[in-house]
Amino acid sequence: MKRRNFIEKIALSGIALSTVTGCHEVVKKETDGLTDLKTKKKPVVVSTWNHGLPANAETWKQLKAGKSALDAIEAGMKIPEADPNIRSVGYGGYPDREGKVTLDACIMDHNSNCGSVSFLEGIMHPISVAKRVLENTPHVMLSGEGALQFALSEGFKVQNLLTPESEKDWKKWLEASKYKPVINIENHDTISMLMIDDDGNLAGGCTTSGAAWKMHGRVGDSPIIGAGLFLDNEVGAAAATGLGEAVIRTAGSAMVVELMRQGKSPFEACKEITERIYNKHKNHKDMAYLQVGFIALNKNGEHAGYSLRSGFNYAVCDDEKGNRMEDAQFKMTWDK
Ligand code: ASP
Repeated sequence: MKRRNFIEKIALSGIALSTVTGCHEVVKKETDGLTDLKTKKKPVVVSTWNHGLPANAETWKQLKAGKSALDAIEAGMKIPEADPNIRSVGYGGYPDREGKVTLDACIMDHNSNCGSVSFLEGIMHPISVAKRVLENTPHVMLSGEGALQFALSEGFKVQNLLTPESEKDWKKWLEASKYKPVINIENHDTISMLMIDDDGNLAGGCTTSGAAWKMHGRVGDSPIIGAGLFLDNEVGAAAATGLGEAVIRTAGSAMVVELMRQGKSPFEACKEITERIYNKHKNHKDMAYLQVGFIALNKNGEHAGYSLRSGFNYAVCDDEKGNRMEDAQFKMTWDK
């Protein structure tokens, strides 16, 4: 990269040159690009929605106890997965139209190692199975029956994940909808988590029961590396929540990371891809109930969230301010 371009990229990303530690060193190593920027803030953990708070808290505890980034992410994401009151993740998640709870999850580390499971039934902690795919198989993604067989071979136990409350809601939905593929606006609440650790390395994870009342066999964006989650350790990390079909159509998280590579801040990158999704969908049948939200975290520990419609928030944990919720900015409110 030419020096001028590099300096422009730093300026574009909102980082004042005077605040870059070792500015001369950065200029000397300009051919290495953005990897030369010194990390300002670490560790930082960012997760989607309110259930990100307890997840962040657990992840933070594990990190401070010296656990690896992936172990800490797994531990944090197991909290909402095991919570029957969270109807969009793991145990207690809303089922598909057949009344079956099917789960999607993925995890990724700073060396671009990935593990993913999709359309997995009967396993309380899909994030843990995804991590085992990363660690113990030559593959990135296992799905359905194969994912279940793998989970069993790794010692996971089958459990009934459909709680009486979710079953009741499903039966009610069946009556009212007459089995039509209506998606309501409140059934998207995947937990995605991004992290920069003490060493300045990025990692991320994502786990969900997917869209409520989906067709049996439907897989959303959440287990797809590049759609629901993506990171490049030289640049930053991004993750999505919302209507998975729209995120997949636009390779959402990968695109957010690419924009950060080009010098955009996490906020600018999330906003631009959300607007791209809006432009591609404004005349689409999905538009009436379309919601998507992104979170992004760059190598400096800067983070942002942005959503198409109002109502999206995310949890942030760092040493400076502790664990708290931040409201994401959005393009429009629900009535528009
Ligand atoms: N993105 C998820 C999916 O489409 C849903 C969600 O975010 O809750 O499966």
